[in-house]
Amino acid sequence: MDKLEFTACPICGRPLNGQSQCACGFDSPQPGCDVADFYLKIYQFALQVQRGEVNWHPDTICKDANAQQGVRICGLRPHGGISLVRPPQRRPVAVEYGVYSSSAVYAAIVDCDYLDCFFADESSVRIVFLGKNVQKISRLDDFETNHGFSVPMAYQDVHKDNPYFAVQANVLFNKSMTELVNYPGLCADSEYRVPKTVKRIASGAFATSRNLQRLYLPKAAIVEYGTILPSTEVIRY
Ligand SMILES: [Zn+2]
Repeated sequence: MDKLEFTACPICGRPLNGQSQCACGFDSPQPGCDVADFYLKIYQFALQVQRGEVNWHPDTICKDANAQQGVRICGLRPHGGISLVRPPQRRPVAVEYGVYSSSAVYAAIVDCDYLDCFFADESSVRIVFLGKNVQKISRLDDFETNHGFSVPMAYQDVHKDNPYFAVQANVLFNKSMTELVNYPGLCADSEYRVPKTVKRIASGAFATSRNLQRLYLPKAAIVEYGTILPSTEVIRY
């Protein structure tokens, strides 16, 4: 497992000066901690931000001025390791491809209507919280079906009042549990059993799951080509 070294708070960027508790409230992991502990700490802090227990300012949004209908968020100016996207009032709101590219954001808390499955491409984002309005994760030119995320996630969570998505044991599903939308690619487990209710695996849902050696799939579940890595053995049950 990779070890981490850092001298500044990964959330707000203040120098740590040997202290673990930063002025922003983040209880930083010790230098040399492993990546899994690091993401767990960030996840726990992002959970507090998401619940409103920590005062965190929303990111500055760069909008697509040419959008005829609704608002397209085509860029973000995040100010720390956690990004809180509170979109403008005008709906629908879509978050585009690569809005976090080159940023030092680890956790994205996003409440839009449509989220591009490549939103975290070329970024540090490994934790995602879907707000209550998110209804589709896909390519913005194809909203017919859901699509798994392009980067391996460590943690994924959904607002309890979201009518479209649900999370069970860190795996993202549609609300009725008939579709598995995304498996967290950084999960260390070597096996996973897809719930019997699932009829469809979203395109790319397991495409980042390098640790997964065996996947138990319900017999009737439909899977598109390229969704499961060749290194994962599929067992139908
Ligand atoms: Zn800090």
